[in-house]
Amino acid sequence: MVTENVIIIGSGPAGYTAAIYAARANLKPLLIEGEADQTVREELPGGQLMLTTDVENYPGFPDGVKGPELMDLMRRQAERFGTRIETAWVDRVDFASHPFRIWAGKREWVGASVIITTGASAKWLGLSSEAALRKSGYISACAVCDGALPHFRNKRLAVVGGGDSALEEAQYLTKFASKVMVVHRREALRASKIMQERALKNPKIEFRWNSEVAEVLDVEKKKVMGLRLKDTKTGKESVLECDGLFLAIGHEPATKSFKGQLALDEKGYVKVHDGTMTSVEGVFAGGDCVDHVYRQAVTAAGMGCMAAIDAERWLERR
Ligand SMILES: Cc1cc2nc3c(=O)[nH]c(=O)nc-3n(C[C@H](O)[C@H](O)[C@H](O)COP(=O)(O)OP(=O)(O)OC[C@H]3O[C@@H](n4cnc5c(N)ncnc54)[C@H](O)[C@@H]3O)c2cc1C
Repeated sequence: MVTENVIIIGSGPAGYTAAIYAARANLKPLLIEGEADQTVREELPGGQLMLTTDVENYPGFPDGVKGPELMDLMRRQAERFGTRIETAWVDRVDFASHPFRIWAGKREWVGASVIITTGASAKWLGLSSEAALRKSGYISACAVCDGALPHFRNKRLAVVGGGDSALEEAQYLTKFASKVMVVHRREALRASKIMQERALKNPKIEFRWNSEVAEVLDVEKKKVMGLRLKDTKTGKESVLECDGLFLAIGHEPATKSFKGQLALDEKGYVKVHDGTMTSVEGVFAGGDCVDHVYRQAVTAAGMGCMAAIDAERWLERR
């Protein structure tokens, strides 16, 4: 079996950027892009931006760009320099010996170095009304990405969650919204004291305690007009009127296939040191499977670039 110089797993902004750099360094990278029929897991070829419409904060596009269009441009740029792309879902790896081995079902690849850019996905409520309205543009899992969109300005927005990221999202949204309502299942927040103090002091933020979302309204009108909430203590239902919904109930890194092979943190994110080197020398990682702080296309692309440069230098040294 041929040993590839570098195998990139994942085709989001991090994977394609790694591929552009590795290809231009003449490493003839092989990129394993994921598989389309994994849609339920949202881990599509092209990554998370395939799920969105307008991307307004990726540099170089003053008028914005559609997520799928941006990913298509990145793919074409990676292919132009000789990246080969395979459609497959990596389900097993062996990083214990060198060269590294990677499997997708019965298919197998061998690589002298590997770059992991498998991303993450936001956790959703799992309600059918939420699924029906996901593509409407009124439900988001990223305030920094979508909060400034015109249809959220001066509107009442609901944020679901009770941790630091929920309060960060709520705080951020108060720059644009007329009111932000934080819906939390318990009567106390998990967020740090300082975040809580800031949010509780903010006159634009209100809290709905002991409340669970039972339904997102209104599927028939094809936009978010409110939430049907259920009191987690009494079971009583009420309607919270709002014009947009932001989920902040966590993210899940797509790293299950690497468990036991690489050091992951307690939430499953790949641990890196000295740039993008993982706990295994010669295996690099970047993008949302590493970064649970910034989670942006441009930061993921930046880390993909770093991983390719790190891999090239590592191969050169060997
Ligand atoms: C709805 C939405 C809107 C967003 N809007 C913006 C925005 O406006 N601006 C912005 O900067 N950011 C935005 N983001 C965030 C941005 O999309 C992510 O930060 C970025 O896509 C992360 O890139 P990535 O390459 O690390 O991973 P991802 O984009 O998550 O890509 C991961 C890739 O890995 C593949 N993969 C995963 N596991 C495997 C496996 N086992 N085998 C093979 N392939 C695998 C997947 O198929 C996918 O191709 C948005 C996110 C969402 C969900």
